[in-house]
Amino acid sequence: MEYYSKQISDLIGELSSLPGVGSKSAQRIAFHILNMPKDRANSLANAISSARENVKLCKTCFTLTDQEVCPICSSNKRNKKVIMVVEDTRDLVAYEKVGKYDGVYHVLNGTMNPMQGIGPNDIRLKELFERLEGDVDEVIIATNSTTEGEATAMYISKLIKPTGIKVSRIASGVPVGGDLECIDEVTLLRALEGRKEL
Ligand code: ZN
Repeated sequence: MEYYSKQISDLIGELSSLPGVGSKSAQRIAFHILNMPKDRANSLANAISSARENVKLCKTCFTLTDQEVCPICSSNKRNKKVIMVVEDTRDLVAYEKVGKYDGVYHVLNGTMNPMQGIGPNDIRLKELFERLEGDVDEVIIATNSTTEGEATAMYISKLIKPTGIKVSRIASGVPVGGDLECIDEVTLLRALEGRKEL
């Protein structure tokens, strides 16, 4: 038996499919939205659809941005000779919050995961190696310390080494299995400064 009318259950259903939102939270949010003034609810809906419509991947580093080339890649204050490889845009933001890194990034948008059939061609590795044909001094690999993150780091470092470009890995100190974005800024700074050459 349906407790709610169809439109309400559809809204709850959509909300509960979001990460970290259980069915109770979904109901709470749905009722919050239904009690909002109509213009607030419209602006929420517009923010979702316009972000989805306009946000794309930076042509250079593949972070999420609403511009062709993101502000970091187009800044002349950033050192383009140092590239930090991260798994996703949230990791990039975590390092940007530390505010001590002046290089640029390369966002893989995933990690290699053979169990799920995700290989080197499914993340932005080809594009990374294209960038390395330019003038690059160092690649800092800052993938998470999960099994997939470590395997991806090993794979990348093996391919970079023969090119003579310095390749380093952020220090352990970042908890194993930890998502980079959940780690505090001091820990992240230590991990960056204590990076080891591979
Ligand atoms: Zn960029």
